[in-house]
Amino acid sequence: MERENHIEECDLWFSTADITDADEPYLASLLVESLKVWSDEAEMRPFLQSAQVRIYGRGRGLLCQAGSVPSADTDSEAEQAAERTVQVGFQTVDPVSSEAGTLLAIGVPMKRRSDGAVFVHMVYIMEMTEARSEAELQARTLHFRSCFYRLFEGMFVKDMVRQQRMRRKEAEHRDKLFLAVKRLYNGIEATSVLTEMLASLEEVYPGAEVHLYLSQDYVDGDDRVRPLLFKNTTHDIVAQAFLEGKLTKETERDGKIRLAVPLAGKQAAYGVLCMSVISEEWDESELPIFLLLADTAGSAFENAKLYEQSNLLINELRLINEMTKRLNQSLQLSEIFKFATRELLNIFEADYCCILELNDNKEFIVKSSNIPILTSEKFTPDYGFCGIVNRTREPLIISDYWNSRVVTSKLMDNTGSRSLIAAPIIVKTEVVGVILVTHKLPNFFSYDNYKLLQVMSTHIGLAVSNASLHAEMRRLVITDNLTGLHARHYLNEQIQRRQRKDEFGSLILVDIDYFKQVNDTYGHQTGDRILVQVSNVIHSSIRAGDIAARWGGEELAVYLPNVRAEQAVRIAERIRTHVALETDPQVTVSCGISEWSLDNDKISVESLFYCADMALYEAKNKGRNCIIVGGTA
Ligand code: GH3
Ligand code: MG
Ligand code: MG
Repeated sequence: MERENHIEECDLWFSTADITDADEPYLASLLVESLKVWSDEAEMRPFLQSAQVRIYGRGRGLLCQAGSVPSADTDSEAEQAAERTVQVGFQTVDPVSSEAGTLLAIGVPMKRRSDGAVFVHMVYIMEMTEARSEAELQARTLHFRSCFYRLFEGMFVKDMVRQQRMRRKEAEHRDKLFLAVKRLYNGIEATSVLTEMLASLEEVYPGAEVHLYLSQDYVDGDDRVRPLLFKNTTHDIVAQAFLEGKLTKETERDGKIRLAVPLAGKQAAYGVLCMSVISEEWDESELPIFLLLADTAGSAFENAKLYEQSNLLINELRLINEMTKRLNQSLQLSEIFKFATRELLNIFEADYCCILELNDNKEFIVKSSNIPILTSEKFTPDYGFCGIVNRTREPLIISDYWNSRVVTSKLMDNTGSRSLIAAPIIVKTEVVGVILVTHKLPNFFSYDNYKLLQVMSTHIGLAVSNASLHAEMRRLVITDNLTGLHARHYLNEQIQRRQRKDEFGSLILVDIDYFKQVNDTYGHQTGDRILVQVSNVIHSSIRAGDIAARWGGEELAVYLPNVRAEQAVRIAERIRTHVALETDPQVTVSCGISEWSLDNDKISVESLFYCADMALYEAKNKGRNCIIVGGTA
């Protein structure tokens, strides 16, 4: 409604509108057209057969003419007559004689309708014999003027309607644009921003064909989004727009206009937005809107990408933080590897994960994996992907093992995996292991995944290093320096532990005979050496589960879990005879044995030792180099 009212107002307005001095230079074509309309009217024809009309713009000379004077031989005669009216200021001039007769030139001014200012002179030229009254000529001039004003108004209306239409279109575009911008900035996902932008463009330019060329992050599934390629840059306006960073335009063979504008934010260009429109439907005035939309979409896309990136980073940091916290809770290597395998499978949504350790023999041993067939499998240090990682000490990404068989891999072959990311576990500049993560699909892992695995492997390396340090420290704490046997407190702990869970066990106390003399004779250093020799004999006389320790001074002890005294005697005997044979200078040992079992009244480490000590005392008394079994503790 409002718009219609507006048009009515304009109707009134343009009927009183008039030309101004400033318009005069631009009136020529309107006057030519008016003269044509005026002279084409039926009533004018006979008049123009014997008269010529010339239109002069104020100070601008002849603009156009119509009709002819048949008796004038040449046009120049009529012109001469007219010239004279011009010279005398468009006054009616005396008849000019021509060869055929006498020509009359009558100047009639044409005035503006609003202020009566003369803006055009009409000069009528005719023969004296055909002379018309000045009143008639005035009337004809008035008629010409109304022809002129009619066209003038028509032009106004046309212009106005055109402007009106454009304004309406602009307003519609602005509304759509406003909505589009709002929607674009609401999008926090980069892909949704792109979809939104394409939808908005199609809404603002219904007939247009819109495409988006992206330099990366190719959105699958939307065929309007394509990868940006640089094949033939001179003929490709898309590539040109991207490289030059500005709007590029071309008219295609089918008459369509193709516009390409970079999709860029403050930090980078991400692609090119391309639109094809039928040239009749395209108005250059719409270009700013297109550019504005592309610009907005570029910033919105960048915002969304930054948001996504920061989210990814936060997630990664959270994962790393969580993982290191859990990793550091454990000081057991096997637990660390098991936990890491589980976490890596989760984080990367991978199919398989395998962690290998490079042992002291320089072999890779599978320490943890979700592939049963590989459990405890061993590989040479240069085998497969482990070999590459071991050699380069760098992480690795393989997008399709089937297409790029750099090496043969049992892991990949057995699991049918095609994608792989791998990283070394480095402790103090040494590769101590390798992490392999795989997926059955090709191109499964992203560059970000690869970087993340690298970070995680560093943390796993730190955990491994912590666990190794801890293990080493513990080994030192529970080991006797001189003999390499366990320390006394460790033996105590272990006997206590076994007494809680076993039914019986035996203890052998071993004491070197006349050791004081050995020291006195050969010196303390030799004494120490003999102590080590005896310890070695003990160590080689017992099984893995038995615990040998230095009980104090030159007294050594062996605890035999789940062993009865009768069996302990045999072991003690072995020790006794071997010591006599293998020590140099030769020494002998005396042994006291005790046994505990569930049916004892009181089970304790102390009573077990007390009994063994009593038995040892007895052995010394019996003459040494012998074994005595004490009573049960
Ligand atoms: P016995 O046959 O009765 O056991 O006589 P013995 O001389 O061995 O007497 P005893 O077991 O009481 O002697 C302990 C001696 O062992 C005291 C000390 O000189 C020596 N000894 C203790 N610890 C060490 C050690 O770490 N190194 C050396 N070289 N000697 C030690
Ligand atoms: Mg002693
Ligand atoms: Mg002794």
